[in-house]
Amino acid sequence: MLDKIIGKAIAKMRLFGCVMVVSGMLVIPLAAHAGVAILQYHHIGDDTPRVTSVTAAELQQHLEYLLEHDFTVLDLSTISTMLAEGKALPPRAAAITIDDGWRNVYDNGKALFAKYQLPFTIFVNPKLMREAPHLYMSWEQLRELQQYGAVIANHSQSHEHMTRRLPGETEAQWQQRQLNEILAAQQDIDTALGSPQPRLFAYPYGEFDPTLQQLLEQHDFIAFGQHSGVWGPLTPTTAIPRFPAAGQYANLTTLATKLLSLPLPVLSAQPQSMIVAHEQLRPTITVNLANLEDFRSSQLNCFYAGEVLVPQWQQQSFSLTLPVDLPIGRSRVNCTVPSRSQAGRFYWYSQPLVRPDAQGSWPD
Ligand SMILES: [Zn+2]
Repeated sequence: MLDKIIGKAIAKMRLFGCVMVVSGMLVIPLAAHAGVAILQYHHIGDDTPRVTSVTAAELQQHLEYLLEHDFTVLDLSTISTMLAEGKALPPRAAAITIDDGWRNVYDNGKALFAKYQLPFTIFVNPKLMREAPHLYMSWEQLRELQQYGAVIANHSQSHEHMTRRLPGETEAQWQQRQLNEILAAQQDIDTALGSPQPRLFAYPYGEFDPTLQQLLEQHDFIAFGQHSGVWGPLTPTTAIPRFPAAGQYANLTTLATKLLSLPLPVLSAQPQSMIVAHEQLRPTITVNLANLEDFRSSQLNCFYAGEVLVPQWQQQSFSLTLPVDLPIGRSRVNCTVPSRSQAGRFYWYSQPLVRPDAQGSWPD
């Protein structure tokens, strides 16, 4: 009976954004509101597109920063388990992810990974690895990086825009095609590495919709997007945000703010799918929060395409109306609000949006 009551209390406290520990019969609220900032990289080098690249020197600066500022760098499976079990996260927690498995990650990153021995995850596309082996790391190279802390995970077989339906494709056919993209890639990874690997999935281009999320959940994956924000106890496990850390975002001044940021306690948000209809030029965004305990609603700042949005509050929800029409393609709304209890730290929320053209397509 007591277990049941404590269980309920934990569930309730977790709902309200607190990470709990159970010590004997006591339920102790910790200095909660913590989360994990995940850094996202692609290329390591100085001869690849700047927007998706860090130089080895920049990556080294980032790793040094994490160590010098008392961050605990965790692997994604550990974080997932801690959050699912309601365990307290370290006050400063971070994770490192690298998408696509480019060859330059091995060539220019190996020495750093060997030196720092921090956990990191590489999301690969096995079909692309077969088709263009000169561009991507080999399985042998990936196995070598495993020795330095790498987890090898799933970025789909062929890196397509997964939410797009082909002309004439039924919903069932689309689902089967996407399931194959996910499960065949996982099979290839598990076979090449000799054992079942953690079921971690990064959406190509960070694009997903509720059906895709459901498919991944049904097959026991947790999944990562490319919208910024912090992974906290209320984050849907198939829409985990990451902070881009390449190009203009490699700058340590701005990156430090992101690394220290906290998960806004979001219970639900509208629109439910980041993929909006072509005709939807200015969708209203509504965000329903679990609590307003550690910040002042009046201090919430939201931005879209460099424009300030004015939140309309109704109890624990706020709504945003876009000041300009959505362009074709990906864009995002970002909101931050300072923490009252932790000076210098901000709660962060990002709502990704994709508006297709009339044919249902958009640029990479
Ligand atoms: Zn990718």
